[in-house]
Amino acid sequence: MNARIRILLIEDNKNTCSYISALLDKNGYTTTTALTGREGLSLAASLCPNLILLDLGLPDMDGFQVLEQLRGWSHVPILIVSACNEEQEKVAALDLGADDYIVKPFDLDELAARIAAHLRREQRRISPSNLRFFG
Ligand code: CA
Repeated sequence: MNARIRILLIEDNKNTCSYISALLDKNGYTTTTALTGREGLSLAASLCPNLILLDLGLPDMDGFQVLEQLRGWSHVPILIVSACNEEQEKVAALDLGADDYIVKPFDLDELAARIAAHLRREQRRISPSNLRFFG
């Protein structure tokens, strides 16, 4: 059932990409990876993912710009995954429309649980009649 859930991972670090992808695969999601901000923006438009994981430190664009552009046209849940643990960065990302902010290094189970929580919330938003199934 999760196979129909598409997750876009925008992250330039190949090691991080491969371990997050492995986690998402294990949970049955269909994952696509973008290594740059531009690639991420174009895949977000063409794939219409159910959720986006976004790294703030990208080679071609500031992650905040990517976030701002995505929020210009999309309500998709966006979870920031960043090495920066500064309160200012977290507040700025949340103010720009991020739904969550996860600091690297993170616990894989926690990341999986947060992704599932955001997907459930999005599901409740899309089909309020399903509320009884999701509590
Ligand atoms: Ca990075």
